[in-house]
Amino acid sequence: MDGNKESFRRPGLVRRLFEFVLPHYCMVCGRRLDPSEQQICITCYLGMPRIGYEMDSINPTERILLAEKSLVRAASMFIYDKESDYSNILFHLKYWRHPKVGRWLAGIFARELQAKGFFEGIDCIVPLPLTYWKEIRRGYNQCMHIAKGVRKVTGLPILRNAVIRKVNRTKQAGLGKYQRWHNAQGLFEVADAGALRGRHILIIDDVVTTGSTLCSMIDTIVSVVPDIRVSVITLAIAGI
Ligand SMILES: [Zn+2]
Repeated sequence: MDGNKESFRRPGLVRRLFEFVLPHYCMVCGRRLDPSEQQICITCYLGMPRIGYEMDSINPTERILLAEKSLVRAASMFIYDKESDYSNILFHLKYWRHPKVGRWLAGIFARELQAKGFFEGIDCIVPLPLTYWKEIRRGYNQCMHIAKGVRKVTGLPILRNAVIRKVNRTKQAGLGKYQRWHNAQGLFEVADAGALRGRHILIIDDVVTTGSTLCSMIDTIVSVVPDIRVSVITLAIAGI
């Protein structure tokens, strides 16, 4: 993989000492990490259930979002399966206060995508927003951390408040496919149409399942800014 060298480079003395005093453990298998490893061990990294991305074929993420006429391209990094130990990555990212893993993986994925020309023509990054209160409770928006990993590689600016998410008391997780689509309607609001007009934006989400949340966000943006072009990156894709 293209990101290997950057992501598993030889650590400096300070990092090796730090790891000796305060060891870290692989988020997937739980093994103690070597100082040259970050977040997950090299064995789990190489065994990750990757999707792969080719510019000339329709991948599973693009298939999910196929109904969106404004979609230019989309890609996901790995397959999410709740029975797999790799699901721990998303739990760490979203619920266990380790958003750094999102930034790290996004950096690796972005380097791979950049080599394939994925970011050509894209103007800016729009992380999928959380509601105000959810972000306060969690302490961060995990999609922002993924966005920062992409920004570090591409230099693309992040638009923070162009789209906001409204309060919805029903969670998407645990709902059936049709309930998710119904529940996702009207979740978003465009707060700064001027920042989006005429642009090609890159929406970033942590995991795509049915695509209902992403489609709801894209539909809301298109209804206000019809000339928008949209590409999408998610770290994981579920249900394939
Ligand atoms: Zn491992």
